[in-house]
Amino acid sequence: MMKTNENPTLWEESVQPGYYKKLDKDIQTEVLVIGGGISGITTAYNLQKAGKKVTLIEQATIGSGQTARTTAHLTYCLDIRYFQLIKQLGVQNVRTVANSHMASIEWMDRIIRHERINCNFKRISGYLFSIHSAEMVQKEYRAMQDLGIIAEMINYVPGLKEKQSQACICFPEQAQFHALKYLKGLTNAALNMGVHIYNHTAAGSIQENTAKANGYTITAEYIVITANTALNTPELNISQTKFRSYVIGIKIPKGQLPYSLWWEVEDSGNEKEFAPYHYARLENFDDLNDLFIVGGEDREIEGTTPDENLKFGRLLEWASQRFAIKGKPEYQWSGTISYSNDGLPFIGRYRYNNHYIISGDSGSGINYATIGSRIITDSICGVENNWEAVYSPGRIVYEPK
Ligand SMILES: Cc1cc2nc3c(=O)[nH]c(=O)nc-3n(C[C@H](O)[C@H](O)[C@H](O)COP(=O)(O)OP(=O)(O)OC[C@H]3O[C@@H](n4cnc5c(N)ncnc54)[C@H](O)[C@@H]3O)c2cc1C
Repeated sequence: MMKTNENPTLWEESVQPGYYKKLDKDIQTEVLVIGGGISGITTAYNLQKAGKKVTLIEQATIGSGQTARTTAHLTYCLDIRYFQLIKQLGVQNVRTVANSHMASIEWMDRIIRHERINCNFKRISGYLFSIHSAEMVQKEYRAMQDLGIIAEMINYVPGLKEKQSQACICFPEQAQFHALKYLKGLTNAALNMGVHIYNHTAAGSIQENTAKANGYTITAEYIVITANTALNTPELNISQTKFRSYVIGIKIPKGQLPYSLWWEVEDSGNEKEFAPYHYARLENFDDLNDLFIVGGEDREIEGTTPDENLKFGRLLEWASQRFAIKGKPEYQWSGTISYSNDGLPFIGRYRYNNHYIISGDSGSGINYATIGSRIITDSICGVENNWEAVYSPGRIVYEPK
């Protein structure tokens, strides 16, 4: 068996990475973006579109980080429950969070059409359900009503075997796409607008207006770190916990399950803890089959080393208990998800007034790439942004210099 983290994902197997040269001289740019995942590429795209001159550097190849290991549910059904967020942040702030997620799905939908990105984008419904914790789902629905979020309580779960679920919230008009096809399309659009991209160029020492990479110096007015980790910022690393999430993909005949997003939640018994859960969706596999993608079994990375095969086995068991599926997984992979203490990412200025970060973006990082890119683009362009305050890194750590 290959080491899990090196197992190719469906996305990696169906898209060739773009080849860009290494940095081989000192350069100057208006904005330096560090990290070529969905956060970095979306930020580079938006900033260049807003008239800035952007250079993006990636330590390996574009899309080789956690964006390649995602399951790409595009949804405002968050990893952390709304009723928990309301307790911490109040209704008004959580309304802002929900609005930012709804707007990010709309934005991706528009950009995919505008840039003609062929990435299997689909608008579909999502179902948050529970077999054992109906009360929790009902509580979540009440919180969503208080927030004015569009959703409906239903008494069955489309696609599920028999009538297992006790409670289910239907989220209409959610979405999904092929993560790396989207990333490649957006990268090409950014390149066409004039963004400079370097592969195999890792940022080392990052100062107020410079970063070192491959022994050369990049001088920039603004530096945006989208490395999916708090580079150069130990304070932010301390405020984050890293989890590993496991995924399997099982081939099923087309039409057997409806294209949908599914999440099963359980009550952790402690409102402050992230409740364990499983998630699923479909993706086109070939003319006759879909791939049923199932994820979950998340565990904190520090401490014990879990048996990965056991995790994949449990995912298969969950999938066959809940859905009428048979067969062995075609794919098995895992990836890292970072959570901040309050469940929201760190997006915005940190350390210096001209430095920005997107980090701690939980299992909703595809949306946060768009949300973060828009906050940072507005801030650099001097435009007010209503989402900025709620995600500011300053809420937890410190004020920028
Ligand atoms: C199993 C799994 C399932 C998920 N499911 C969902 C989902 O359904 N919906 C959702 O919204 N989110 C989901 N997520 C989360 C989401 O995929 C991630 O949050 C998101 O892809 C992170 O994108 P990013 O661009 O911030 O980071 P990455 O894609 O990791 O990109 C960061 C890049 O920075 C580069 N880098 C690092 N250090 C340096 C350096 N020093 N110099 C230059 N480059 C550097 C890395 O090589 C990497 O390519 C999931 C994640 C996992 C693991």
